[in-house]
Amino acid sequence: MSKGILYDATLCIGCKQCEQACAEQNKLPYDDKIAAETRQSDHKFTVVLSQDDKFMRRLCMNCEEPACASVCPVGALQKTALGPVAYDAHKCMGCRYCMVACPFGVPKYEWNNSLTPKVQKCTMCADRVLAGQQTACAEICPTGATKFGERAELLEEAKKRIRENPGNYVTHIYGETEVGGTSVLLLSSIGFENFGYRTDLVRDPLPLFTYRVLSRIPDFLPLAAVTLGGIWWITHRREEVAAAEGQNGKKNRGQR
Ligand code: SF4
Ligand code: SF4
Ligand code: SF4
Repeated sequence: MSKGILYDATLCIGCKQCEQACAEQNKLPYDDKIAAETRQSDHKFTVVLSQDDKFMRRLCMNCEEPACASVCPVGALQKTALGPVAYDAHKCMGCRYCMVACPFGVPKYEWNNSLTPKVQKCTMCADRVLAGQQTACAEICPTGATKFGERAELLEEAKKRIRENPGNYVTHIYGETEVGGTSVLLLSSIGFENFGYRTDLVRDPLPLFTYRVLSRIPDFLPLAAVTLGGIWWITHRREEVAAAEGQNGKKNRGQR
């Protein structure tokens, strides 16, 4: 069974411990300045937004059929059987198609890392989930607003919460059907559009559209393969040169 995260904004107190736990999990810096940032970035994979006394998290939705993975020419992004959409930086050639394809604007690029830039995003703590653990943000959450579990069970729980307390929620489980469904499910007492979530998304998985578009452009794939192969070679050549320079530097220092 596939895992998921249920975030219930009505239980959230805006403490941002999830942000901090995420930073620690991903070896990213976290201080007061970063805590104040309200946009997902290459150094902040989840944000807790607030509007009056309401809160809302943003993070990668870890889509059931991710558009980012469907356009990645080298399979650097992959939907895993357990739910997380994982990322392999060693495969990535830096084309950034994923950034264009994602309907939630999630993947970010390390523009300030000129040597070995990577795409960055929440991967639903893929390593932890694989090891049988819950995500770091769910583990730390003091109120249960962020809850980890089986997606199917979390979905039933979300429906039950709305059924039993209809006055507390808008009747929409965000992620149940958006772009074919997502591993992250959201509940809120006010419309999701208040926090920048798109409410015009189709129910069909976006990779279907990708396939339909590509199937009508027969010359696209060979051309893309040649172009992107060139980009990949340049990107990885820089890494090799950097590694070789590092080794030479060490040798030279050792010879002194
Ligand atoms: S939200 Fe965007 S980056 Fe995350 S899995 Fe879906 S398409 Fe990929
Ligand atoms: S699931 Fe993991 S990577 Fe994603 S926001 Fe939570 S702690 Fe961060
Ligand atoms: S840790 Fe839980 S209560 Fe605190 S901001 Fe995150 S989701 Fe809300």
